[in-house]
Amino acid sequence: MHIVQVVLDAPIDKYFDYRYQPSSGGEGMPLVGQLVTVPFGRRTAVGLVVGTGDASDVPPENLKDAGYCFQEIPPLGKAWLDLCRFAASYYHRTLGEVALSVLPKMVRQGKQKAIGKALAALAQEQKKESPVPVDMPVLNASQQQAVETILHAEGFFPVLLYGVTGSGKTEVYLRAVAEKLRQSPDAQVLLMVPEINLTPQLEARVRARFPAEDIAVLHSRLSEGQRLRNWLAAVTGTARIILGTRLSVMVPAPNLALIVVDEEHAPSYKQQEGLRYSARDLSVWRANYLKIPVVLGSATPSLESWHHVQTGRYRQMALPERAMEHASYPAVSLIDTSKEPIVDGLTQPLVEAVRRRLAKGEVSLLFLNRRGFAPVITCNACGWVSQCHRCSAYMVYHKAGRLLRCHHCGLARIVPRHCPDCGNLDLQALGRGTQRIEENIRQQFPEARVLRIDADSTSRKGSLQKALEDIYQGKVDIVIGTQMVAKGHDFQNLTLVGVLDPDTALFSHDYRAGERLFSQLMQVAGRAGRSVAGPDANPAQVMIQTRYPGHPLYQAMCQRRYDAYVGELMEERRIAGFPPFGYQALLTAEAKSIDKAMAFLQGAKGLIDRQQGITVSDAIPMAVMRVANVERAQLLLESASRPALQGVLSDWLPKLKGLKTSVKWQVEIDPLSI
Ligand SMILES: [Zn+2]
Ligand SMILES: [Zn+2]
Repeated sequence: MHIVQVVLDAPIDKYFDYRYQPSSGGEGMPLVGQLVTVPFGRRTAVGLVVGTGDASDVPPENLKDAGYCFQEIPPLGKAWLDLCRFAASYYHRTLGEVALSVLPKMVRQGKQKAIGKALAALAQEQKKESPVPVDMPVLNASQQQAVETILHAEGFFPVLLYGVTGSGKTEVYLRAVAEKLRQSPDAQVLLMVPEINLTPQLEARVRARFPAEDIAVLHSRLSEGQRLRNWLAAVTGTARIILGTRLSVMVPAPNLALIVVDEEHAPSYKQQEGLRYSARDLSVWRANYLKIPVVLGSATPSLESWHHVQTGRYRQMALPERAMEHASYPAVSLIDTSKEPIVDGLTQPLVEAVRRRLAKGEVSLLFLNRRGFAPVITCNACGWVSQCHRCSAYMVYHKAGRLLRCHHCGLARIVPRHCPDCGNLDLQALGRGTQRIEENIRQQFPEARVLRIDADSTSRKGSLQKALEDIYQGKVDIVIGTQMVAKGHDFQNLTLVGVLDPDTALFSHDYRAGERLFSQLMQVAGRAGRSVAGPDANPAQVMIQTRYPGHPLYQAMCQRRYDAYVGELMEERRIAGFPPFGYQALLTAEAKSIDKAMAFLQGAKGLIDRQQGITVSDAIPMAVMRVANVERAQLLLESASRPALQGVLSDWLPKLKGLKTSVKWQVEIDPLSI
């Protein structure tokens, strides 16, 4: 009798035995790492084979037959299975949940026909013509040194490539990739970017550099067919370059020789639903397992990676210069808003600076990380505010359509004509969002071509791309945007960045807010002065409007010295025992009432019987307690020792899973915000 043991996409932590009749599927027995269809409950599921044998503990009359074995897909390999096993144990999920959930939907659903067709198409694809040599930029000394260090590394070698925007990090990645691919005909490399919007740019650059290579792009906005094709190209080794967002860290590429994580500090490497993994952390684990180099690139490295450099675990390579010709670093200056009054969001020095750019046909970028017209509407007579009745949050005023929108639950309604509480007709819009700045700018500079870029202006498919192209083609004088414009875009002829109202982040409840603000400001500042028209151009300049010009964050920003600020942050974290000096797990509970969520957490806390080496906080409501009529609370577990925390979780979570409750709960390891 042939028995296959499989895991399934289910929160049940066990292996399931099935009988396998070779005649029922392809030829021969399934191998570990292959996929089979099996009957499970009333449905047919796809399972991953984790063991084979000739006997089972299940009585023969209860054994069911496995169906089709996907022998056309190569076995997914021990290294990949071990990666899934690690992720399952570290994030406290079942192996089946991890392994099956990271497969393309068409594989998970066992679409034999589609898989067969995609594989046939892959085999048919013409080997691309031999590479045409492309002009490669000359590396500066620090780039050269970084490339050599990566290439001469033996075994596991984590490198933090620390360089500001425009210092030529991508060129370092591409050289290292080229050399790895040259060294071995089977070698594969994985290049990760934090956001889908950044993939087309990098993809174009990689395709131009490696015209003969099949490049497998992986992100969540691909069609299911494209995702299947690209995943198969990576699994079969057809694609030697894999380029993708966080989900690509789980691709079963059999011959990885190098992993690159660009913008390693980016919060989007953390999956925030389902399996809440950190793609950056898993990439380092994977490189360690495979004994290969991993390059983490950033202008503002995460404190975790910075700490690893300081403790000698990672090697740091710095790129201090701007690599591009005709590019200079912008000068950063602060506008003290206690001295320069803000009128409709803008101070006079900033308005004048924009005017100087307009006069010379240069581009200005105004950065405000708040969309909408005004964050709240209020009644001056009675104090009514536009509170969302489903969330503990205000509804944001959007002028187009005169709408109030909740940015948490999506609820929208027409702005009332008069105060719902007292009938007063004079309702006021408080504060400013991008729409209000746009209106103001259009009034001040009627001749200028103004473009706003935020989640509202780019909600239609392709509209962001169109907006960016308009900027590249010189059709825009003034750009107003949220963080969407901060990332990695190469704008021509942009010599001024104005930062409006960044101070709120200084007083956030989130201990990572300062780190994020700094990184955002560095990124948006990096948009200025990347390529400038001529010798008469205005010097590249960044102007920040702030009430707190003496704050260490802004002072470090003026010197463009992340290392100056990071030292301060690191000290704060050390005193508080926060990451990277401590480890955290967060239990969150969602219920119809906050009392119920809190009671669940108190009960859960009572189930921790061994508290050695860990600290358990009291249950508290989350910062935004209510979203879409669901009330949310949290319980934080902390420890200076990762094994101690993991040990407690391993004892505790099975007990939690045994509880019967209507409360929806989940545990997140290494949460990004608490
Ligand atoms: Zn009122
Ligand atoms: Zn809401």
